[in-house]
Amino acid sequence: MADLQFKTRSGASASIPEATLTAFKEGLRGRVAVQGSAEYDEALPIWNAMIERRPALFARCAGAADVMRSVHFAREQGLPLAVRGAGHNIAGNALCDGGLVIDLSPMKSVRIDAGARLARVEPGVTLGEFDREAQAFGLATPLGINSTTGVAGLTLGGGFGWLSRKLGLSIDNLQSADVVTADGALLKANAGENTDLFWGVRGGGGNFGIVTSFEFRLHEVGPNVLSGLIVHPLDDASKVLRFYRSFIADTPDDFVCWFVLRKAPPLPFLPPQWHGKEILALAVCYGGKIEDGERVAKPLRAFGNPIADVIAPHPYVAWQTILDPLLTPGARNYWKSHDFRELSDGLMDVLIAHARKIPDPQTEIAFAQLGGAVSRVPHGATAYTHRDAQFVVNVHGRWDDPAKDAQCVGWARELFDAAAPFATGGAYVNFLTQDEQDRVRAAYGDNYDRLVALKNKYDPGNLFRVNQNIQPTL
Ligand SMILES: Cc1cc2nc3c(=O)[nH]c(=O)nc-3n(C[C@H](O)[C@H](O)[C@H](O)COP(=O)(O)OP(=O)(O)OC[C@H]3O[C@@H](n4cnc5c(N)ncnc54)[C@H](O)[C@@H]3O)c2cc1C
Repeated sequence: MADLQFKTRSGASASIPEATLTAFKEGLRGRVAVQGSAEYDEALPIWNAMIERRPALFARCAGAADVMRSVHFAREQGLPLAVRGAGHNIAGNALCDGGLVIDLSPMKSVRIDAGARLARVEPGVTLGEFDREAQAFGLATPLGINSTTGVAGLTLGGGFGWLSRKLGLSIDNLQSADVVTADGALLKANAGENTDLFWGVRGGGGNFGIVTSFEFRLHEVGPNVLSGLIVHPLDDASKVLRFYRSFIADTPDDFVCWFVLRKAPPLPFLPPQWHGKEILALAVCYGGKIEDGERVAKPLRAFGNPIADVIAPHPYVAWQTILDPLLTPGARNYWKSHDFRELSDGLMDVLIAHARKIPDPQTEIAFAQLGGAVSRVPHGATAYTHRDAQFVVNVHGRWDDPAKDAQCVGWARELFDAAAPFATGGAYVNFLTQDEQDRVRAAYGDNYDRLVALKNKYDPGNLFRVNQNIQPTL
């Protein structure tokens, strides 16, 4: 290792002597990866290939002690600091330019206490890894819909998926978190200790510290859940979505149905003549008994003339990976999202009109259903504030060729603007993309001032700033 030249958090040129770097490296149980090494090249890629940032070094942490030491090192040296879980953040907040990345991805332990129905999870764990461990005991907690996403980043922003209408957000099932704060101390945050910090990490992202361990409540789920897709031609979307809207008004919280508008991928269950044509895919999951799910889903399955219906009992772990092939890492991605209280006729028309102009076969409009248990948590109980949102649209601009950047980004922005009149004005912090600094306040909503007070208490120097940042005012 040579001396390290870098720009400090305040922008001044600085360097760290080789001996200081070596001492830091030798003090870790994990490893340090610097530019030019194979380990650096292995640590660098994140999910969204549009993000181009080159940190000076990664601290590949093996445990909480490494995280504490790395926080001290970054603070003392004035190094810009980013924190990486599984690297899925669309805005690329797992990486900084020229500074230190505290890389939590080696921290992979999941410990299930089936008797107490609790899971203790380290911050490098992905959703798929968590699900596999918990399902060995027939248990689960609500997480997202793509198994390679990180439990850490997802949870710190809120976290929702197929079980959320039944069981709430991921944060609603968080019992306790161990947090390394900006002074390098490790604090326990839960309903009895550091309660303000516990409130803040449930939706306030990584603004207050680095979580080295999450404890989640577990629930009986599966091992099979009634789940699958019903696929209709886009030409029928207007009448199918009107039926969908009235249908879901009376379904129990066990039932959830998201939908996707896109070009049909060449999946084996879709007739070849439909491959590449625009479709509406309803994605259904029932978290309760299979036979109850079959009864509840029946009218939706009977409606219209679907191209395919592949709803059946599937192992919960398998269903949790069902969309993985469409969401692989390494593509260029640009997202725009809105929250909605209702699915109005005008909104449906906007979604369908833009689906007809989808600029790339990988691009899609994903529409998530929330409500249920998510909306029953009292407003203000957590830093996540959008309890009234019944639906979230995520415009997944996604393509491979950089020459298509302007076209695909332009399409996503156009759809976002057209849908804005129907939206709440709020935003899900985990879906904000890298050019949406102007939406950060909206994402934290009416909790913003309380979050600033918390930031002033736990991170007044804004060490943790490579995130959807709450700026301290001290
Ligand atoms: C394909 C795909 C599907 C998705 N599906 C869903 C979904 O169904 N539901 C949903 O709610 N969200 C979903 N998301 C959004 C997801 O919640 C965010 O991208 C989230 O930031 C991912 O967390 P990560 O740990 O993988 O990311 P990272 O990029 O590693 O981290 C994300 C942010 O969290 C911070 N961070 C990470 N770990 C810690 C920690 N231990 N302590 C403090 N700060 C930390 C990072 O600094 C960064 O700011 C999806 C994202 C993708 C790319």
